[in-house]
Amino acid sequence: MILFNLICGHDHEFEGWFRSGADYDGQLAAGELVCPVCEDRNVQKAPMAPGVISGESRDRREPDALREALLALRKTVEENCDYVGERFPEEARRIHYGEAEDRPIYGHTSLDEARALFEEGVDVMLIPKRVRQDA
Ligand SMILES: [Zn+2]
Repeated sequence: MILFNLICGHDHEFEGWFRSGADYDGQLAAGELVCPVCEDRNVQKAPMAPGVISGESRDRREPDALREALLALRKTVEENCDYVGERFPEEARRIHYGEAEDRPIYGHTSLDEARALFEEGVDVMLIPKRVRQDA
């Protein structure tokens, strides 16, 4: 699942969950994306939030709003997904290729593994580890 920040023609920002980028494109093309505030169908992805430096040597504090959003996201993931720990890359592939039950999972993976999964077309989303450690 992918979370996109969306914005309507009247500057209302809201969030939408999609199975993939293609799912978003499909819903957009079909006119199924509607602003929950004013029902405007002129919806598009909101501009990305200002970049956050993630290098270890930089200031480690995140803006409060971003941190809260990440914590909320993590909570949602933990309440709705099966924890598979270090087996994440393996289990994500098994689900992608229909060898395991199709269900949302979460766990740990390296950046290289995540990149490999992306390239194989597996729906994965990265949540910064630092939020876990601070919580
Ligand atoms: Zn609106």
